Amino acid sequence: MKIPEQRIKIALQKSGRLTEHSLDLLARCGLKIRQSKDQLFCFGENMPIDLLLVRDDDIPELVSDDVCDLGIAGLNVIEEKRLTLCNADRPALFDQIYALDFGHCRLAIAAPEGGDYGGLRSLQNRRIATSYPALLKEFLEQHEIDAEIVNLSGAVEIAPRLGKADFICDLVSTGSTLAANQLREVQNVLASEAVIIQTRAPLSEFKEEWINRILQRLTGVQQVRESKYVMLHAPRSALDQIVDLLPGSESPTIVGLGGDDDKVAVHAVCRENVFWETLESLKRAGASSLLVLPIEKMLA
Ligand code: ATP
Ligand code: ZN
Repeated sequence: MKIPEQRIKIALQKSGRLTEHSLDLLARCGLKIRQSKDQLFCFGENMPIDLLLVRDDDIPELVSDDVCDLGIAGLNVIEEKRLTLCNADRPALFDQIYALDFGHCRLAIAAPEGGDYGGLRSLQNRRIATSYPALLKEFLEQHEIDAEIVNLSGAVEIAPRLGKADFICDLVSTGSTLAANQLREVQNVLASEAVIIQTRAPLSEFKEEWINRILQRLTGVQQVRESKYVMLHAPRSALDQIVDLLPGSESPTIVGLGGDDDKVAVHAVCRENVFWETLESLKRAGASSLLVLPIEKMLA
């Protein structure tokens, strides 16, 4: 009997701030996709992986209900759903949260500009408009503040002007939307970025292997972003000092130079950004012929 082909399903945001980055990240992991006409389903052509493109709010549930094996969404959405969907029958919904270092923003409380704000106590018995009622409720309880949560599904930032609330609790990245609505950020509630979650349902060995492979490739993609390959010539007498100056490098390769016994070539993977200042310090320490190269792929 032929065993049916097993394919891993990953839920991604269909159209929004996370879409392009999520697709790009998977492409960097080697995935080639064929997009269907309705664009809801993408077939992976070179790996047993399919993508389901949905609203970001639906991603946690798709993964916790085991419709999808993996999902990519903002921590803000994941945590809000964890608080809303979790109960005694479903104590843990998904696993293995892996931060992806994009979609950075924060859930924050903002107050009307010019109004009085004297710390968290100012929220006592006031109205706060938000689309994240569960996260806000938890935050207020942790700080023992009694406030009325006004649940809005959108346009939260205009609630104070409409007289619907005294404060808002919403996502902020640059703060320009707040400024445009005469609001100022006064309290951070949650720092967020895009994360990957995995179903808690038992997986076949085949799926498990592929998921490990994807996670390993994701780690490689993340490391490559900041890593550089540095090559330089160093006088033997200054070698220790020069190696110490290389940012985030472990055991560099040191090889002799033909026709020059006093100098060696040093090759190193630097896992942090290599700035001009670092190169200048290396040069001052005696390094020459400095080259900094981008790294395309990395597998530890
Ligand atoms: P959908 O139609 O999928 O429900 P949406 O309108 O809820 O889309 P987007 O505005 O595309 O969502 O934001 C998706 C995620 O991007 C947010 O949940 C958050 O994690 C992240 N994000 C990063 N910066 C911001 C920002 N300035 N405002 C809102 N979200 C941001
Ligand atoms: Zn949404």
